[in-house]
Amino acid sequence: MTVIAERSTQTDALADERWQAICNNDPAWEDAFVFGVRTTGVYCRTTCRGAAVLRKNIEFFDEIAEARAAGYRPCKRCRPDEGGPHSRAVNVVTQACDLIDATPDELLTVAALARHIGVTDHALRRSFDVILGITPRQYAEQRRLERFKDDVRNGHDVTSALYNSGYGSSSRLYESSDAHLGMTPGQYRKGGVGISINYAIVDSPLGRLLVAGTDKGVCRISLADDDESLEVALRKEFPLAEQAKDSGPLSEWIEIVARVVSGEPSDIDTGLPLDVRGTAFQRRVWEALRRIPRGETRTYSQIAEDIGQPTATRAVANACGKNPTPVVVPCHRVVRTDGGLGGYALGIERKQKLLSREGALE
Ligand SMILES: [Zn+2]
Repeated sequence: MTVIAERSTQTDALADERWQAICNNDPAWEDAFVFGVRTTGVYCRTTCRGAAVLRKNIEFFDEIAEARAAGYRPCKRCRPDEGGPHSRAVNVVTQACDLIDATPDELLTVAALARHIGVTDHALRRSFDVILGITPRQYAEQRRLERFKDDVRNGHDVTSALYNSGYGSSSRLYESSDAHLGMTPGQYRKGGVGISINYAIVDSPLGRLLVAGTDKGVCRISLADDDESLEVALRKEFPLAEQAKDSGPLSEWIEIVARVVSGEPSDIDTGLPLDVRGTAFQRRVWEALRRIPRGETRTYSQIAEDIGQPTATRAVANACGKNPTPVVVPCHRVVRTDGGLGGYALGIERKQKLLSREGALE
């Protein structure tokens, strides 16, 4: 009797841990088990970003074969039979980094890398973003810069270090170290001087949607009832940037943003490059916001704790207000401790709509 009781307690603790891993989309548990969803008949890994599930409807399996034997089909979204998406992304990134490191004299394009590995350009970019938080190009630039610094440290003169590390001429070093930074803080402070911004305004369920981007990524997302106020606010934010209303160069990003704003419950935005500037503190807050799962909310003080500055509640609220790419960086998921919605730069009605659409307002 005692033995059975102990065993069932252990099993419960494991089930609790597994359930928590599902709630957190925890990649650490991705290969540890799969779970079947009784209501849909499919089985998934922890990293699946599919529809929300209730604990009472799921069943855990140590092995895929057990899930199949119990009559479940593999989920089409997370494709559990091919290894978890996190493992797949790690695999893609590892292969690409090896290729980049093996060809120090050339900067392989994303297309060339993707072709070598046998994935799409989009999958390659997205894997880099998810696993490393940088683009393949940035990785290559960084490795090149490291080789250059190593060479100089090891006593090479600058000119030969430049050639050894794959730079054709000294000017390219400066070009690429600049490119690596994206929009420099200096440029940003000076109103976007020297940068070109393209933007487009499209319809969305939340009003007129402006998406603006540099050649590095989306730099602003905004919603309003009319186009004019969107354009005025964009000019105010980057008064000296060259601005063109041209959706062409941004079309892929606009589509992703529009789908996120339309409420598509998926992970489509993970491949979206952002070119936003903020203080180190603001960036930590924005990163914390991206970790809040859809359908859930956090309070400003929980975010403050999450980034290790539990007393910085007010600064967190300010950083949320300064978020240049709302909806994609879900600052709408942060509410007040007393249950009040708190503020929202795009209007409290939009915040309410976003949260109720995500099922976070019960
Ligand atoms: Zn799934």
